[in-house]
Amino acid sequence: MKMKYTEPAPISELNPLDSMMERFHEAARILGLDESTYEALKSPEKSVIVNVPVTMDDGHIKVFEGFRVVHSSKLGPSKGGIRYANSVNLDEVKALAAWMTWKCAIVGIPYGGAKGGITCDPRELSPGELERLTRAFTLAMRDVFGPERDIPAPDMGTNPQTMAWIMDEYSQLSGYASPAVVTGKPLVLGGSLGRVEATGRGVMVSTRSAMAKLKMNPSTSTCAVQGFGNVGSISAKLLEMQGLKVCAISDVSGAYYKKGGIDIDAAVEFVEKNKSLEGFKGGKIISNDELLTLDVDVLVPAALEDQITEQNADRIKAKLIVEGANGPTAANADRILNDKGIMVVPDILANAGGVSVSYFEWVQNRLGYFWTEERVNRRADRIMKQAFENVYKASKKYKVSMRTAAYIVAIDKVASTSKLRGIF
Ligand code: NAD
Repeated sequence: MKMKYTEPAPISELNPLDSMMERFHEAARILGLDESTYEALKSPEKSVIVNVPVTMDDGHIKVFEGFRVVHSSKLGPSKGGIRYANSVNLDEVKALAAWMTWKCAIVGIPYGGAKGGITCDPRELSPGELERLTRAFTLAMRDVFGPERDIPAPDMGTNPQTMAWIMDEYSQLSGYASPAVVTGKPLVLGGSLGRVEATGRGVMVSTRSAMAKLKMNPSTSTCAVQGFGNVGSISAKLLEMQGLKVCAISDVSGAYYKKGGIDIDAAVEFVEKNKSLEGFKGGKIISNDELLTLDVDVLVPAALEDQITEQNADRIKAKLIVEGANGPTAANADRILNDKGIMVVPDILANAGGVSVSYFEWVQNRLGYFWTEERVNRRADRIMKQAFENVYKASKKYKVSMRTAAYIVAIDKVASTSKLRGIF
C-alpha cells in the first residue's frame, strides 16, 4: 500500500522522540496504516506545561517547569510515570508518553499512555521542598489527573512517598480519599503487593521467555545489568535466582565486574547503606562502555535512554538484550543489532510488568479490596508471557525484529480501537 504521510526527519542527534518516531513510522509502514490514522496517532492528544513557584527552605522562591503529556486515551484513562530529573524536557516526556500507549496496548490493559516530569535535581531538594514542589505540581495538574482520566506513577527520581503526596493533595481537592488517582503508593495508602518488584520481575519473565526461544540455558548463562535502581537491582536479583551469573552491575557511580558473578544481595545491602555502589568492593571497577560490550550472554540496560548507539552497537557481544529502561537503544543502533543477529526484547514489552501491576493496584483501589502477592505475581507473569508470545508471533509473521513486531502489535490495537470509536 502506498503511504503518503511524511517520513520523519533523519536523526541528527540522539533524541528519544526521534527514536520513537522512527520505529512508529517503520511499524506503520509495514502494517499499511492509513494516512489519517497515522497522523492521528503520531501526535499526543494533550501537552500541558506548567511553571510552579515553590518556597525553598531559605525563604526564596524558585520556579520549576513541569510537564504532563497525554499521548492517547483511546484504550482508557492515560497512565504513566512522573520523572524528576534535570534532563526532563518536552520531547523526552512526549516520547515516554507514546511508549506508555504502546506498552499498555501490548500487555492488553485498558489504559492509554501519558508521562510527566519536572525539570529539577531531586537530590538537591530537601524533603520539605520536594513535598511542596509535588503538591504545587498536583494542584497545577488538577484538571489533568484523575482516577478516570489520567493516573500518574513513580519514575526516575520519584517514589512511593511522592505518590502519597499526589494522592493526598488530589484527595484534599476532591474532598474525599481518592487512592486510585496514582499507583506505586505505599502499601498502607492502597499500594499493591508486588508493585515494587513488578518491573524487574517482568524483565526476568521476558528474559526467560526469550532464552527459551533462543535455546539458552539460564544456569550456564551470564549477564550484565546497567543501572542498579528499582528496575536494575530487582532484575539482577531475580535473574541470579534463575541461575544466571550476573557478572557486572553499574550505577551512576560506575560499573563493577566479577567473572564468577557479583553477589547481588551484598550489592543491594551496600546500596541500602551507602545510597549508591560507590566504594563497592564486590567487583573490580570497569567503564560503562566495557559493561555494555562485555562478553556475556544477556545484557539488561536498566538505567537511561540512548545507551546503546551506533558508536557501540557493533561491539556488543550479548546474544540477547532485554530493555529494562525506557529507550536505552537509540534507533540508529537497531539495524546494527539486527544484522548481528542479537535478539532485543524491546522496552515497551520487557518493562511492561510495572504498568501491569499498576493496573492491578488501580483495580484493587476501585474494588476497595486487596490481593495477595502470590495472586498479583501469578497474574502479572501470565500477562508478560502472553505479551511476549504475541510479539514473537508477529515478528515471525511479518519477518521483523521483536521491536518492530511490538510496535506493530501496539499500533494495530490502538488504531483499530480509534477507528471503532471514530475520529471526527
Ligand atoms: P531508579 O532511579 O530507581 O534507578 C536508576 C538507576 O540508574 C540508578 O541506579 C542510577 O544510579 C543509575 N544510573 C543513572 N545514571 C547512570 C549512568 N550514567 N550509568 C549507569 N547507571 C546510571 O530508576 P528506575 O525506576 O530503576 O528506572 C530505570 C529505567 O527503567 C528508566 O528508564 C525508567 O523509565 C524505566 N522504567 C521504570 C519502571 C519502574 O517501575 N520503576 C517501569 C518501567 C520502566
